[in-house]
Amino acid sequence: MTAFSATLSDRSTALSDRLQDPRLFRQYAYINGKWTHGEGGREEAVTNPATGDVLGHIPVLEDTQITAAVDAAEAAFAGWRALRADERSDILQAWYDLIRANSEDLATIMTLEQGKSIGDSRGEVQYGASFVRWFAEEGKRTYGNTIPSHMPNAALGSIKEPIGIAAMITPWNFPLAMITRKAAAALAAGCPIIIKPSNETPFSALALAELGERAGIPAGILNVVLGEPPAVSKVLCAEPRIRALSFTGSTRVGELLMAQSASTVKRLSMELGGNAPFIVGPDMDPTEAAEAAVAAKYQTSGQDCLAANRILVHESIHDAFVEAFKVSMSALTVGNGLQEGIDLGPLIHANAVEKAQSIVDDAVAMGATLHQSSQPPVAGENFFMPVVLTNITREMKVWREESFSPVAGILPYSTDEEAIELANDTEYGLASYLFTHDLRRIWKIMRALEFGLVSVNSVKMTGAPVPFGGVKESGLGREGGSTGIDEYMETKFFCLGGM
Ligand code: NAD
Repeated sequence: MTAFSATLSDRSTALSDRLQDPRLFRQYAYINGKWTHGEGGREEAVTNPATGDVLGHIPVLEDTQITAAVDAAEAAFAGWRALRADERSDILQAWYDLIRANSEDLATIMTLEQGKSIGDSRGEVQYGASFVRWFAEEGKRTYGNTIPSHMPNAALGSIKEPIGIAAMITPWNFPLAMITRKAAAALAAGCPIIIKPSNETPFSALALAELGERAGIPAGILNVVLGEPPAVSKVLCAEPRIRALSFTGSTRVGELLMAQSASTVKRLSMELGGNAPFIVGPDMDPTEAAEAAVAAKYQTSGQDCLAANRILVHESIHDAFVEAFKVSMSALTVGNGLQEGIDLGPLIHANAVEKAQSIVDDAVAMGATLHQSSQPPVAGENFFMPVVLTNITREMKVWREESFSPVAGILPYSTDEEAIELANDTEYGLASYLFTHDLRRIWKIMRALEFGLVSVNSVKMTGAPVPFGGVKESGLGREGGSTGIDEYMETKFFCLGGM
C-alpha cells in the first residue's frame, strides 16, 4: 500500500478553495492513520449535484486494501480497549470540539457534495457532533451488574466488553450524522471502526477522519475505505474479524448485507427505509397542521427516511388542510444550497429526479390530482420542485413506495381506526407522526402505530439521547441513547464459584 504525506496528497480544487482549512478536503482513503490511494490506480469522480461540477476524486480500493484496514484495526484493538473509559472519552471530547470548531467548513463540504441547503448542513453538523459528545459521556457508564446467586458460595454477574471491529456503511442523505451516530458509540465502547461512506458524499467522512486524527484517535482505530460499494461490502461482510456491521441505507441493500453477513454471524444493526404516515386529527387547526406536515415532508428535499410521505387528514378538515398545505409548500425556496435563504437543494442525481417523476406520473395516470408549487421551476438537471398529490389511492406508487423526493400524498380518513389501519399499511415501520390535542386519541393511536418512532405534535424527534430505529422492514437495532452503545458491546456473564 502506498501512503502519501498529508502535504503532498491533496490536489486543490474549487472545493478546497472554499474552505478556511483546505486540509479538511481529502481525496484518499484513510487506513491505519495514513492517507492512501487505490493500488490499482482507479478513481471515481464526485460531483456537485447542484451544478454537475466535479468536486474531486476518490480512490477505488482493491480487496487487499480493505483487508489491510481490517489488519490495522485488529492490531490497534488491544491498545484502544485497554484505555480507561475516561481516556477514550477525552479523545472523543477533543473530536467533538474540533467538529464544532470546523463546523462552517464541514457544512460547506456537505452542501457541495450532497446539495442540501447550507442551513440544513449547519444543522446536521451540530446534530452529528452531539452524538460524539453524548457517547463520550455514555462510554463511562457501560455498567455490568451483579446477580443474586442460585448456587451456594458463588458470585454471579455480568460485565460489558467491546464487541470487536465494527464496520459501518452509510448513506448520502446525512453524510456526517449517520457516521457519528455509529462511530462515536463504537469508539466509546472500545471498538476499532471501518467506515464505508457513500460514494456520492465521501468528503464529509474524510474530513471527519482528518479531525479524528487531530483529536488523537490512534492509527488503525478509525479507518475510511472507499471503492465499488458491492465489492467493498462483500469483503467487509465476509471478514470474520469484523464482529459488528452497522448499516444505514435502503431496505434492498440492507437485506443483501444481512445475507452476506450470515456466514460470519455478525451483530447487525440495520437502519433502513421508511414511508412515514402523518395523521392529523379533526381537532387540529388545518393551517398549523399543514405547516407542520410541510416541515416534516420536504426537509433535505424529501430525501429523508423520516419524511412524512403519506399524510392522513380527518375528512372534516381535509379541504382546508390541502389549501394551507399548498400555500406553505409554495413558500419553500429551491436552488443551489450554497445560497443563503434556500430551503431545498437539488436531488442527489438524475435517477432520483426520474423516480420522483415516475411516482407523479403513475399517480396522475390513476386519477390523482397534482398540486405544484406556485414558484417558477429551477433550471438544472437534478432539481425537482416540491409537489403534493390528492385523490390518491393505495394502489399508487406514492402510497406504496418510499419516494425519497419532494413528492407527498394526502388522503382523507373518517375514524381513528381507519387512520391506524392506513398508517400501518406499509412494510416499513420507522417514523410516524400524529397531530391531535385529544389525550385519549393520542394514547390509543400512539400504542397502535407499528413504528419505532412516534412523534406527537412535533416534527422534531431525533437527537443523541433518543433510541432511534425501525420495526418491520425498516430495520434492526436502535442507535443513539443508552441502547446505541449496546450495539457495540457483548455481555459477558461470570460465575465465581467457591467463594
Ligand atoms: P443505499 O442503500 O443505496 O446506500 C447506502 C450505502 O450502501 C452506501 O454506502 C452505498 O454505497 C452502499 N451500497 C449501495 N449499493 C450497495 C450494494 N449493492 N452492496 C453493498 N453496498 C451498497 O441508500 P442511499 O440511497 O444511500 O440512502 C437512502 C436510503 O437510506 C433510504 O432508503 C433511506 O430511507 C435510508 N436511510 C435510513 C435511515 C435510518 O436511520 N433508518 C437514515 C438515512 C437514510
